[in-house]
Amino acid sequence: MNAINQSGWKPQMNAREGGAPMTSTGNKALMLEEALIFEIGSDETCGVDLPEVDAAASRLGDLARERPIGLPGLSEPEAVRHYTRLSRQNYAIDLGLFPLGSCTMKHNPRLNEKMARLPGFADVHPLAPVDSIQGALEVIHQLAHWLVTLTGMHSVAMSPKAGAHGELCGILAIKAALEACGESGRKVILVPESAHGTNPATAAFAGFTVEDIPATPEGRVDLAALTARLGPDVAGVMITNPNTCGLFERDMKAISDAVHEAGGFVYCDGANFNAIVGRVRPGDLGIDAMHINLHKTFSTPHGGGGPGSGPVVFSEALAPYAPLPFVEKHGDHFVLVEEETARQEQHGSSFGRMVAFHGQMGMFTRALTYILSHGADGLRQVAEDAVLNANYVLRRLEDVLDAPFGGSGPCMHEALFSDEGLAEGFTTLDVAKGLIDEGYHPMTMYFPLVVHGAMLVEPTETESKAALDQFIDALRSVAERAKAGDASLKSAPHFAPRARLDETLAARKPVLVWKEQPLAEAAE
Ligand SMILES: *Cc1c(COP(=O)(O)O)cnc(C)c1O
Repeated sequence: MNAINQSGWKPQMNAREGGAPMTSTGNKALMLEEALIFEIGSDETCGVDLPEVDAAASRLGDLARERPIGLPGLSEPEAVRHYTRLSRQNYAIDLGLFPLGSCTMKHNPRLNEKMARLPGFADVHPLAPVDSIQGALEVIHQLAHWLVTLTGMHSVAMSPKAGAHGELCGILAIKAALEACGESGRKVILVPESAHGTNPATAAFAGFTVEDIPATPEGRVDLAALTARLGPDVAGVMITNPNTCGLFERDMKAISDAVHEAGGFVYCDGANFNAIVGRVRPGDLGIDAMHINLHKTFSTPHGGGGPGSGPVVFSEALAPYAPLPFVEKHGDHFVLVEEETARQEQHGSSFGRMVAFHGQMGMFTRALTYILSHGADGLRQVAEDAVLNANYVLRRLEDVLDAPFGGSGPCMHEALFSDEGLAEGFTTLDVAKGLIDEGYHPMTMYFPLVVHGAMLVEPTETESKAALDQFIDALRSVAERAKAGDASLKSAPHFAPRARLDETLAARKPVLVWKEQPLAEAAE
């Protein structure tokens, strides 16, 4: 790491000078250029020997294919190498610190994986007779018990499959509760300016109108502005606590009381539960519904779009409207409740189902393994160490990077910086790209929106002091280059397989179908 600390940092080689690759293959040492599997395979090759099919025996008639299906054939070593090379181009939590703020990218313990692979859990079928899957139901039931206990809530819906899916579950329960008491005229959901994009998206998707609540100068919800907006048209609020500026919403109880008084419900985005698990119970703060990302706080893997898991805990008032199914223990037998119960019919009724079956069994097993191996005291230490690590990052970098809320006291689980003080023409994007050359996945950038050029770093509790120091040195050196106006940073990354992509074009006009023509043409 010495090289990066020297001033006047320069890339060691000008890989992209004149757009020409340095090597004849385009490979860089062990980082290999990789064509699409369609480009390396051919439909005349096959990795296995299959007997000739007797064409006369076909009963497909007119439906028979006229042309080959076009799948690329490769030998086994070719196929293995292709996917192994691709996997090397991915950054992963098993390769290094993953500083993405708001994502809680923590280590996924191998013990979790071992448990999830036990055949009784891994091979369980959603339609298996309940008597044959008592162990799997017990896992769901025990995990549900832990989630309810840790949050101090009344009950939990286990089936939602991601945080955003959990948000929808909670908001649909609020909608059902309002309808049940003749309050369906309440159409507005209040969301703080710093909210994760999924919050307003969820409220809008469920048919509500979204209105912003401003933040105070120190990055928290403006209680006075919120109270002033409450009224008979407000269905509720969606508040993230700890919030996306990395701060605890100290007025949470006062917010909940005011919302309840005005006839609304309180949804808490619990994606940041890692910072408070074992220390604060959301149930004590007056929250009615909150999702928990098992793939964040409880160490199940995430990335690549899933599979995640977003159970939702409910207050007593909302519990009757929670989705089906759920697991109940009758004596020493576990049952799956798939129909309305008498209790629910009395007080209101479930809004329905979120998914066809019971949720992500593999994630339940991993999360329960994590919880049991930490125990209650260990989970409390998770929160303490996560907060300590984030504060270490914040305090060690605030002399080179502007920390907009650094004066608001200690942060929670993530450290927030802005682009204030970078040289003219240098942006958060340049800092992020520079970090790639240093061997790190960039931090979350340009979120939360309330901070200009935001850089959000969440180290989590699983990083050692040595790992944090290395990361801090790397980010410090990139920040210093951005402040000094080092032009080489504008074209970083220099060492990655791809440099500055046209991300807008990639998002607007993704090329999703391979055609037998050069990619450049296909993109037109
Ligand atoms: C991650 C996150 C979400 C969404 O969770 P997914 O599981 O990605 O759907 C919502 N809110 C916040 C604050 C988050 O960090």
